[in-house]
Amino acid sequence: MNLENSQRLLSDFPRLFRLPPAYGAGEGEGAGEHFVFECGDGWIEVVHAVSRRIVAHAEEQGLYIVIHQVREEFGVLRFRMEGADAVIFRLLENAEMVSAGICEVCGAPGMLFTHGGWRVRCDLHRRLWGERND
Ligand SMILES: [Zn+2]
Repeated sequence: MNLENSQRLLSDFPRLFRLPPAYGAGEGEGAGEHFVFECGDGWIEVVHAVSRRIVAHAEEQGLYIVIHQVREEFGVLRFRMEGADAVIFRLLENAEMVSAGICEVCGAPGMLFTHGGWRVRCDLHRRLWGERND
């Protein structure tokens, strides 16, 4: 994910994204600055929408939620996190399903394809993917 989209997520949800303690990330201001979103920019709105719902639910329920990883895995969006309850797991499952229909590169409607690995691509990026690795 590019710098602009990463910074938008980190500034809109300043306490949500943290590397696990094993990676040397502490608490407090700036602890999320080295967080890397390991997926394409086409999914920015999916990640943003689910983050907004997670934060709202966590505040309502008094939960302490930390997302340690956001990545593409087996073609779809996946999260690793701490502190999730059943509602949040359902939100994440829903985001995963939504990502399976959105091109990871550009955000247009897409489908899961396999080409040496699973990826969600629109028609254009599916064709480009056949020619080079994006
Ligand atoms: Zn696309």
